[in-house]
Amino acid sequence: MQRIEAKGFAIHSKEGKFQPHDFTRHALGEKDVLIDIHYCGICHSDVHSAYSEWHDGIYPMIPGHEIAGVVKEVGAHARKFRVGDKVGVGCFVNSCKECAPCHDHYEQFCKKAVYTYDCPDHFHNGEPHMGGYSNCIVVDEDYIIRIPHDAPLDKIAPLFCAGITTYSPLKFSKVKAGTKVGIAGFGGLGHMGLKYALAMGAEVSVIGRSEAKKEMALKMGAKHYYSDVKDAKGANLDLILSTIPTPYNMADYLNVLAYGGELAIVGLPPRDNPPSLSASALIWHGHKKVYGSLIGGIKETQEMLDFSILHNIYPEIELVTGQDIDRVYHDLTHSNAQFRYVIDMKKSF
Ligand code: NDP
Ligand code: ZN
Ligand code: ZN
Repeated sequence: MQRIEAKGFAIHSKEGKFQPHDFTRHALGEKDVLIDIHYCGICHSDVHSAYSEWHDGIYPMIPGHEIAGVVKEVGAHARKFRVGDKVGVGCFVNSCKECAPCHDHYEQFCKKAVYTYDCPDHFHNGEPHMGGYSNCIVVDEDYIIRIPHDAPLDKIAPLFCAGITTYSPLKFSKVKAGTKVGIAGFGGLGHMGLKYALAMGAEVSVIGRSEAKKEMALKMGAKHYYSDVKDAKGANLDLILSTIPTPYNMADYLNVLAYGGELAIVGLPPRDNPPSLSASALIWHGHKKVYGSLIGGIKETQEMLDFSILHNIYPEIELVTGQDIDRVYHDLTHSNAQFRYVIDMKKSF
């Protein structure tokens, strides 16, 4: 079988800039699907990875794990999709299918999970997997999400990371009518968290770090907006979902939780100054719970997509091209970004 010619936008070092990059993807396996990528969202995880903020990245790197496109070809034994179907791919493209997390539909915790980029592909000789800032991708059919035919692909793309990452902990914490939810960090993930929490019946407060997005938060349905977590004292929140991508003081957030409240962490700041909690903070806030959450499995991602479409929940997006990636990364790291930037692949090459 022949390898598949592809083109994308790669960064070649943590100090680098994005450049057009020709490469090949592994050949179409029997249960694989070749997807023509139409749109790919830009997640802050792409920025952390491209700049080696979590670990030393694998270069050249083509980031992107919020992928929406159309099936172009299916492998000989692939049964789930047909040519022309609208489909999505998120943060991982394969896993072992045998371990306990795989059986429980939490493939993201599989020791052999292949993350969409900046990760060796354990099922293809360890070659680095390339992400969605590209014109096509080849993925095992079990790791592909079905998108209804009449759904808007550009707005759907970010759901495969920003959507599932915020939906999953809200479900895990059993958010329901009347739950007081705080969203910390109001960007790509944060505004999705706000929309899902509202749809689940919660009363939502947003905790940002400036007044810049106050109006948007209130317009989207937030009951309160705080430009500093210290102003939220007395808010007595049942759950805070922290999407913050920069260093911050976790104990400040425990302070605004109600008795028995939960702090769910999804934002993952750089390794050189990670947020931490002292034993004393945990003990003096006893019976409050702090947990991390990592995207979501394929089954829950499909559930999230169905929920989003049913409740008409989509991200606020701005379409950009591959030539704009460096500028978007700059804006995302300089308080100059709106909510989600989505690369229009058809306009990028
Ligand atoms: P964005 O850059 O779109 O949004 C981040 C928001 O947080 C911005 O609005 C920013 O404000 C705000 N912010 C930054 N620092 C602070 C602070 N100290 N206090 C309050 N608000 C702050 O990022 P994303 O939403 O795409 O991603 C957020 C984080 O989530 C990243 O670290 C990313 O890696 C992580 N992530 C984790 C996943 C998981 O599975 N756990 C999956 C996907 C992403 P401003 O507008 O001023 O910049
Ligand atoms: Zn992401
Ligand atoms: Zn597994």
